[in-house]
Amino acid sequence: MGAPVLSVRNLKVEFVTRRGVLKAIDDVSFDIERGEVLGVVGESGAGKSVTGSAVIGLIDPPGRIAGGQILLNGERIDNMSPEQIRKVRGKRVGMIFQDPLTSLNPLYTVGEQLEETIQTHTNLTRAGARKRAVDLLAEVGIPAPDRRIDSYPHEFSGGMRQRVVIALALCADPELIIADEPTTALDVSVQAQVIALLKRLGRERGTAIMLVTHDMGVIAETADRVAVMYAGRIAEIGPVEKVVRQPLHPYAQGLMGAIPTLKGHIHRLTQIPGSMPRLSAIPPGCSFNPRCPFAFERCKVDRPEAIARYEHPVACHLYDQSSAKVEVASDR
Ligand code: SF4
Repeated sequence: MGAPVLSVRNLKVEFVTRRGVLKAIDDVSFDIERGEVLGVVGESGAGKSVTGSAVIGLIDPPGRIAGGQILLNGERIDNMSPEQIRKVRGKRVGMIFQDPLTSLNPLYTVGEQLEETIQTHTNLTRAGARKRAVDLLAEVGIPAPDRRIDSYPHEFSGGMRQRVVIALALCADPELIIADEPTTALDVSVQAQVIALLKRLGRERGTAIMLVTHDMGVIAETADRVAVMYAGRIAEIGPVEKVVRQPLHPYAQGLMGAIPTLKGHIHRLTQIPGSMPRLSAIPPGCSFNPRCPFAFERCKVDRPEAIARYEHPVACHLYDQSSAKVEVASDR
């Protein structure tokens, strides 16, 4: 197997404040292969969006990448100049955000926006770019694309606008797409369509997808593997069927217990007591220890590293008895 499309190695992101240096991402490692969807999940403040922003070079001061490496198809991108990383964004890495209106300019038709992006990243003529734009709109499921291409963003529904944003992200045929809460602003039925679309496009085009969301249901539907983040670290990472059905980490168990199912009225949804610690108040030892029903003495002083368990890594002392310690990214 060749190099992963995205390889994040021991990433550290800090924010320098008057009260000191806050660690937002603390030693995070993972890979995403061609055509693979990695779901990155956790509550608000877990560090999942900061990780996505670090990958695309959008950590603004007072934030900074304080350590580690980010490689795109084997090439380091974390140490590029702002000019170089701007070229990577848009061409080699596409982005989809929660609110489609942040990616679309209301003053231009979707065709003008797509054509401009296509011409920026390819050698196509204006006519060629327009044809490609129509094809892309068709590919993401916009009906009558040759007519809708001349519509303005406000003339589309929320779900259709998000499809346009996906088309925009695909303009330069990127190697990687970072989708940050792409369905959160959409109705449930539209969410399912957009998720199915993302999944299909990833498979057909071989694009690697990093899907950032707080929604375990979206992860269960879309992802091939899941990284569960807590307080800037990966608590557990592994195949979706393992992590969703048989989560090992107590935090992952709490998150999975909160997924509603069609049989949902039979069992009461579980809730994780307490909330994610602020960056300025991350407890020593395991950062989850104040909320963990299984915490013991060691958890208050000793930070758990990733341990291989049932072939995927989990950072929890409960699994420390019989397993060898491994790198988080070596879970494949
Ligand atoms: Fe709970 Fe301890 Fe495991 Fe942390 S290391 S999740 S506190 S049992």
